[in-house]
Amino acid sequence: MKRIIVSISIITMMLTSSCEQKEKADLVIINGKVLTINQENPSAEAIAVKGETIFAVGSVSKIRSYIDKGKTEVIDAAGRLVIPGFNDAHVHFGPLDPDYIELRYTTDPSVITEKVKAQLARVKPGELIQGGHWEHEMFTDRKWPSKELIDKVSPDNPVILSRADGHSVLVNSFVLKKSGITKNTPNPFGGEIQKDPVTGEPTGILKETAEDLIKTGEVKSERTPEEEESRTWKGYLLALKEAREYGVTSLQIPGKADYAAYKKLQKEGQLTCRIDMGEFLTSDSSALEKFITEKQKYPLDSDWIRFGYLKAFMDGTIGSGTALMFKPFADNPESSGLAMMPYEEFEKMVIKADKMGFQIGVHAIGDKANFWVLNAYEKAQQVNGKRDSRHRIEHAQTLQESDIPRFAQLGVIASMQPTHCITDKRFYEKRVGLERCKEAYAWRSLLNTGAMLAFGTDYPVEPLNPMEGLYAAVTRKDRHGEEGGGWFPEQKLTMVEAIKYYTWGSAYAQFMDNRKGMIKPGYLADIVITDKDLLTIPDNEIMKTKVDYTIVGGKVVYASGR
Ligand SMILES: [Zn+2]
Repeated sequence: MKRIIVSISIITMMLTSSCEQKEKADLVIINGKVLTINQENPSAEAIAVKGETIFAVGSVSKIRSYIDKGKTEVIDAAGRLVIPGFNDAHVHFGPLDPDYIELRYTTDPSVITEKVKAQLARVKPGELIQGGHWEHEMFTDRKWPSKELIDKVSPDNPVILSRADGHSVLVNSFVLKKSGITKNTPNPFGGEIQKDPVTGEPTGILKETAEDLIKTGEVKSERTPEEEESRTWKGYLLALKEAREYGVTSLQIPGKADYAAYKKLQKEGQLTCRIDMGEFLTSDSSALEKFITEKQKYPLDSDWIRFGYLKAFMDGTIGSGTALMFKPFADNPESSGLAMMPYEEFEKMVIKADKMGFQIGVHAIGDKANFWVLNAYEKAQQVNGKRDSRHRIEHAQTLQESDIPRFAQLGVIASMQPTHCITDKRFYEKRVGLERCKEAYAWRSLLNTGAMLAFGTDYPVEPLNPMEGLYAAVTRKDRHGEEGGGWFPEQKLTMVEAIKYYTWGSAYAQFMDNRKGMIKPGYLADIVITDKDLLTIPDNEIMKTKVDYTIVGGKVVYASGR
């Protein structure tokens, strides 16, 4: 009897090992510092992928056994950090302008002149020329660029070239003239017209709200519908290229977007990002019925193009003084912001859409706006019963203390953008007063109460680059790395947490946490390898970190060296 048992177990062992032998990977990553975001198995050295999914995570020796020589693609991470692909939970993604002059990583400012000159040969006088992503800290002289660089080649066309962070632009004299900006123009609130210290003349650099002064007198170019269509197509390809270079493997677009365009990209093998989009929240029954049909066509259990949630706005923004607050703004006692609709109307819409099974995501910035949205979600639970609805608050910037635990209690996701914190903090204190800042961008307070965070960018409001979001989440300092411990440092996150909510947290917010956002067997192989170790580098290296590999669904869609 004993002998039989032994032989059965030997046979079983042989069977298992022969099965394992048969299992060969399409792609393996070896010698990595793998941060899995999977609590049960937080770190590993290697990953094996078959088709679209990960099937093994472990040691190099284990994963090596899945290599089929000559067939399996092997990536040697050479000690680099390997993490799940970034999932931007709030991004206004769409086609880029194919005529946009790309200036990223430019070290010689004269390249700006050359590229503008080349573009000028393709356009008519008066047509707008746009470009950007220059970073003067990368120039060999590290000096801010000035209008002289472009004036000589573009006297009759408006030129606007954004800095990499999107918070300043370089314009030519043509634009300054059209905008009426002279040496006598004062700086607008929250902005700066950079002026030459000697002559007092504007240099062509406009920072922050000074960009709102821009008038271009642009002459629109006329294009045939076919030309328009091909431009849009190219624009999508460019946008997707940017996303994969940043390691962004999933995008959640709030509100409406073009299903047909993404379908076409997918059909032609060009879709390198998983896309969720939705519609706007309404109480119109026929519109909601239509959305149900759309949802069935792009269901939540698919992995690429999906119907996400219904979006609504409760208020405006802090920057423009339109966020809905309980008490007036510190710098404007006349105003407590604006509600986009009366509460009763909003509540009815929420209850109706919730009853029909939709997920809802509402833009709420002010403390009162957040209170209202939480109230409506609570009411919907009371009326329709509690379910796994995963309703979201987009931004959730200013919260009254008593509302913080309600996120976890109601199962509401705080869909937040860490870079907003470091951009807005410059005027936050002045506008809402110090007291209310304590529960602004309150990531730590929310986590302490058991809430779920989903991170994103709100691109193009903030740059798409996830490294900026990670930097913001762990430092709460401005982009220049100001002195001190950061703005309300008690709300800072660890790097592991920041990555977790930018990957798995975002996946949770779209009901995909069971198959995305972790490096775990059975999960989609959306993986990123970075050139620096985000877990150990000093803060000032985080935003300089680049992606070396982006893998989506087991396919390498970007490799820095190739
Ligand atoms: Zn937005």
